[in-house]
Amino acid sequence: MSEFDYDLFVIGAGSGGVRAARISASHGARVAIAEEHRVGGTCVIRGCVPKKMLVYGSMFAEELGHAENYGWTVEGRSFDWPVLRDFVNRDVDRLEGLYGKTLQSHEVELLDERATIAGPNTVKLASGREVTARYILVAVGSWPMMPDFPGVEHCISSNEVFHLEEQPRCLMVVGGGYIAMEFAGIFNALGSEVTVVNRTDRVLRSYDDQIVERMLHIAMGRGIDFKMHSQIRSVEKTDDGCLMVDLGEANKRRVDQVLIATGRKPKTDGLGLENAGVKLGEKGEITVDEYNRTSCPSIYAVGDVTDRVQLTPVAIREGHAFADTVFGDNPRTVNYDYIPSAVFSQPPLAGVGLTEAEARREYGNVKVYSSDFRPMKNIFSPHAERGLYKMIVDETSEKILGIHMIGPESPEILQVAAVALKAGLTKQAFDDTVALHPSMAEELVLLK
Ligand code: NDP
Repeated sequence: MSEFDYDLFVIGAGSGGVRAARISASHGARVAIAEEHRVGGTCVIRGCVPKKMLVYGSMFAEELGHAENYGWTVEGRSFDWPVLRDFVNRDVDRLEGLYGKTLQSHEVELLDERATIAGPNTVKLASGREVTARYILVAVGSWPMMPDFPGVEHCISSNEVFHLEEQPRCLMVVGGGYIAMEFAGIFNALGSEVTVVNRTDRVLRSYDDQIVERMLHIAMGRGIDFKMHSQIRSVEKTDDGCLMVDLGEANKRRVDQVLIATGRKPKTDGLGLENAGVKLGEKGEITVDEYNRTSCPSIYAVGDVTDRVQLTPVAIREGHAFADTVFGDNPRTVNYDYIPSAVFSQPPLAGVGLTEAEARREYGNVKVYSSDFRPMKNIFSPHAERGLYKMIVDETSEKILGIHMIGPESPEILQVAAVALKAGLTKQAFDDTVALHPSMAEELVLLK
């Protein structure tokens, strides 16, 4: 008989936790996983997946707008938010079910209650029961960070936006990051009046300046109003249920909803980490070594709660590496170089590797190749929006340092281009590749 109830107890059934639980179980470990909300975590329940479906839903507005130029008559065009919202949420339910089945088929015991840490090998469940485990994995993710101003309780975060009773006619989005740009794009396309309030004049800081500039130009052209160097002073609820937002300097705006998207913080509050001596960093994140081990040798952490790279595929890799290291007799670390990422704004933008500014700082001599083109898909569009692709190359070694793009389907194209960076290819490899014509991706092998 083992001295512990389980070999592994995972707290949090999101992307990282579920992967770690499943792989650990397949290595022969007795595993339990606790989830206080819904199996699937942020990505599946209130993040990447439902967001992308809303993007697809909203893109019909543009496609239907083009349709007449292609000979299609679309009569009685209208949009019904509850239909899209419920369709998306039904699919989230389906995916949650699939995640549950995966855990079940790997004989991972699922406990649908909150779990906190009571000691290095002890977990306390909300029901009051205490269980023991040889290892504990904390994979509780992150939570929206709400700024502190009077009336912030009237505002929503990305947690609530998927469940709105009605489509806001007038939406204010606060922040200039991923979530702000994506939801501004979605609701603008759906016909809401959208204002983005950002504290500086920079949005999407980690992306290439020129690509972001193009995104802003297009977004403004589509009617999104950007209030740069602005911050909310207060929000008041009016008698008719609207929100009166005070932006200072006698600038007041009446809107239906305010969506706060000012970053996410590790969800470590009240987790009992102090009971096991688990150290936290400045933002409340759990600090770990390259094998995801915390300052307590029996406790590990993966995903957003460690605040390394807040992206689902990274959490999944960390969870998998943890399981292989601890239960698979195969110590593995995650390589964080050249992680591709995208913002599903409209149009989307994507990037991998160094931006032009970063490359100039780090390498000095760099060459920038680009293509500024009008995608064939946009020929019939009233906007005449242009795509922009950039490749940053080290002049000495000719190695590609970064690829950045904005335009239709750019995340789909960039995923493949990221393989070239990971493989350490030079621009010559792209030049040597025959274009696939006509496509947008061919611009990548025709860069000048
Ligand atoms: P981000 O970190 O992307 O952006 C936060 C934004 O809020 C920045 O513009 C920041 O400004 C601003 N901000 C921060 N604090 C304040 C404040 N107190 N008042 C006003 N503005 C503030 O956060 P998101 O919430 O958009 O997303 C969280 C994370 O989720 C992302 O970092 C990303 O990792 C992940 N995500 C990924 C997606 C994807 O892969 N497509 C989609 C959605 C989320 P400043 O730049 O000045 O600091």
